[in-house]
Amino acid sequence: MNAHDSEKVVGTLLARGYSQVETPEAADLVLYNTCSIRDKAEQKVFNRLQNFKRQAGKGKVFGVLGCVAQQEGEKIFDRAPHVSLVAGSASYTKLPEMLVQLEAGNRRVTGLSLDTEETFDTPFTRRDNPHRAYITIIEGCDKSCAYCVVPFTRGPERSRTSESVMAEARRLAESGYSEIQLLGQNVNSYRDPSPEGWDFATLLARIAEIRGIRRVRYTTSHPRDFTRAIVDAMDANPVLCNHVHLPVQSGSSRVLAAMQRLYTRDDYMRRIDWIKSSRRNMALTTDIIVGFPGETEADFEQTLDLLDQVQYDSLFSFKYSPRPNTSALAMEDKIPDEEKTRRIMILNEKQRAIQIRRNADLIGNVEEVLVEGYNQATGQWIGRTSQNRTLNFTHLTGDAASLAGVYMHARVTRAGPNSLAGESVANVF
Ligand code: SF4
Repeated sequence: MNAHDSEKVVGTLLARGYSQVETPEAADLVLYNTCSIRDKAEQKVFNRLQNFKRQAGKGKVFGVLGCVAQQEGEKIFDRAPHVSLVAGSASYTKLPEMLVQLEAGNRRVTGLSLDTEETFDTPFTRRDNPHRAYITIIEGCDKSCAYCVVPFTRGPERSRTSESVMAEARRLAESGYSEIQLLGQNVNSYRDPSPEGWDFATLLARIAEIRGIRRVRYTTSHPRDFTRAIVDAMDANPVLCNHVHLPVQSGSSRVLAAMQRLYTRDDYMRRIDWIKSSRRNMALTTDIIVGFPGETEADFEQTLDLLDQVQYDSLFSFKYSPRPNTSALAMEDKIPDEEKTRRIMILNEKQRAIQIRRNADLIGNVEEVLVEGYNQATGQWIGRTSQNRTLNFTHLTGDAASLAGVYMHARVTRAGPNSLAGESVANVF
């Protein structure tokens, strides 16, 4: 979401007559978009700002955007007096007004209110990828997971109207984008605020019908709001990629309750059963936090057991780190860092073995890939499958023309823990 926010911010600046330069040194205005989902992010931001302090006197203007801006607020002006703009993502709709103030020479411009019902939609998004485009459908979060800073940095949950999402998707398809990725903290909490009142499954199904769109992905889902209707929509329409990222965080219902995740292990497994009983071969990925306060060895073993049961295709693992304003800060039974490190290593080792097996099962399959680029060093094209796997493949036509953005078929001939390798079979434009 931060990457896409940056695309929208750049687009807004370009529309006001700014132009983008290659380096911060060449810029008159430097905006840092920041993340505070993990520890020490703010320190990194201040270190980066410090590097440019001397140039501030020479007319260069600095701004801090995103979660660190929201979290640290006006304290940023004290710690880095050369910063002129501090704005959290819930205030980006006011970015044009804030730019006017900056241009008028105002040296303390802030956008820190979380009190908004608006989403940051702009017709001016400057997209980084010519084939795959992001669309934000919902911003903010109304849940209150004990470890998570997002509700404090991105504000309350607010969905875009289905009409504006569909209009953006159609525009993208007409401009040649073939893959759409729907974004939100919890995409499946989507609720169309217009009288149509579409839920997420309906939105998915309608976007998949747009002519020119070949692939639709979405991230991230919250297990509590993940409905059977979403699986039915995916079953019915192959344009919806066969990949579900469903963050579980822990395999222990006791830890899930302490995390205030609003589901039990059994609730989660019910959703996994829906996905696995789909007619399509769905890839499953997840996020796991180890070392949450009070997580016992037995709790951790339950997480390992969950990996055995689900057989994820990939996972993102994190050591718990305390974040400002969150309720987990007050919890007892902190786990020492060495123990968190031990657990995450065991977890990742187990997952690696699962991935080696699961990827090896695909050897011999022919997969459709969207070509993302070319690796000069290996002489292979880089493709992505509908399941979101990387498939590096050789293409022996002797044709040096760029295939980036083309859909092709490739046969899987080798598999590693993190990617597949193979050779092209035939183009399927
Ligand atoms: S659902 Fe929980 S983890 Fe996800 S953004 Fe909201 S509070 Fe954070």
